Amino acid sequence: MAVKKQCAVIGLGRFGVSVSSELYKLGHDVLAIDINEEKVNEAVHHSTYSVVADGTDEKELRNLGIANFDHVIVAIGDNLQASILCTLLLKEMKVPSVWTKAQNHYHHKVLEKIGADKIIHPEHDMANRIAQHLISDKVMDYIELSDEYSIVEIASSPSMDGKTLAELDIRAKFGITILGIKRKKDINISPLADDTIREGDILIVIGHRKDLKRFEQHA
Ligand code: ATP
Repeated sequence: MAVKKQCAVIGLGRFGVSVSSELYKLGHDVLAIDINEEKVNEAVHHSTYSVVADGTDEKELRNLGIANFDHVIVAIGDNLQASILCTLLLKEMKVPSVWTKAQNHYHHKVLEKIGADKIIHPEHDMANRIAQHLISDKVMDYIELSDEYSIVEIASSPSMDGKTLAELDIRAKFGITILGIKRKKDINISPLADDTIREGDILIVIGHRKDLKRFEQHA
């Protein structure tokens, strides 16, 4: 495992619980916080510690030593005021990495202004990935890096079978870069020019959206 991190998740709705469980499974220390005692009791299975606390109460946050955590995820859902105040307090306390779940565009803007390090839209991101997958047989997965750039997993086409990356010359032809090649359970994360593509391989590719689209349609 990479270095063990001290993480806290504030708000244990479905998203908060999923993040807490994944971090915990990866071996990190996870403090799970919710204002609702029932949620906190359920969290014992997917966190290192769980406590009832109000994420908008500065004193309670300080008593928990939240400023010493490496990452804090604010997953307070519908209560935008609480989500914003909690994020603000964490940034005032100089927590190095605060990631907050946003409900909508206005919430996003406020979070940006108060210095959230990352603003997450889980439903939007998941919808995007599903839509990309749905409209193309070739796109297996999709990560939006910005409005213009993405990383996609694209199934190799039969015409690539047996050709090396140098022969395919994808960067010159499409302006995109192959970051990795997945073959069943193996993954080659730094492919070389003389590595060969086989039918059924999945290519992990980074590039401008329009170049990726061109590659998907013509490769
Ligand atoms: P989901 O994540 O399940 O899709 P959601 O984003 O709407 O849904 P909620 O169901 O609203 O999330 O859950 C957010 C959690 O945050 C709830 O468990 C709630 O008790 C908790 N919460 C709300 N306000 C606070 C607060 N001030 N401090 C700590 N936890 C809070």
